[in-house]
Amino acid sequence: PPDVEQLGRATWTFLHTTAAYYPEKPTTRQRANMLSLLHALPVLYPCSHCATHLGTEMERHPPDVSSRRGLSWWLCERHNEVNERLGKERFDCVKTDERWKDGPAD
Ligand code: FAD
Repeated sequence: PPDVEQLGRATWTFLHTTAAYYPEKPTTRQRANMLSLLHALPVLYPCSHCATHLGTEMERHPPDVSSRRGLSWWLCERHNEVNERLGKERFDCVKTDERWKDGPAD
């Protein structure tokens, strides 16, 4: 079976980076494709209990694909739900761009 921690780090890197570079004003096609990508995760993510939890969270909190900012924030909150469940620290979502897009100031 896959290494759940390594898979998680790689997947969060992909998802947060993709959200960080998602358009501020996405086209209909970009929104539809982002929704497909996110909705595929609870079906295909190769850690089945992770996938089940994510599916439940996504039903309670549908993805915001309306803008780069909305998507980045939504994803940060979903990641924080996993962090809390695993007893890890919450991440300050205000720092999402610094972590995944801009890098630290200076
Ligand atoms: P990670 O949590 O992988 O984080 C990587 C980096 O992201 C951090 O170093 C930090 O810089 C940054 N970061 C942290 N929090 C945030 C945030 N909220 N927003 C933006 N950036 C942030 N593991 C399980 O054991 N059980 C599960 O049910 C489970 N579900 C998962 C569901 C999904 C969809 C994914 C992608 C992963 C899941 N994982 C699960 C894996 C788990 O989330 C971690 O990836 C893994 O435990 C490794 O953790 P880590 O401490 O190295 O950092």
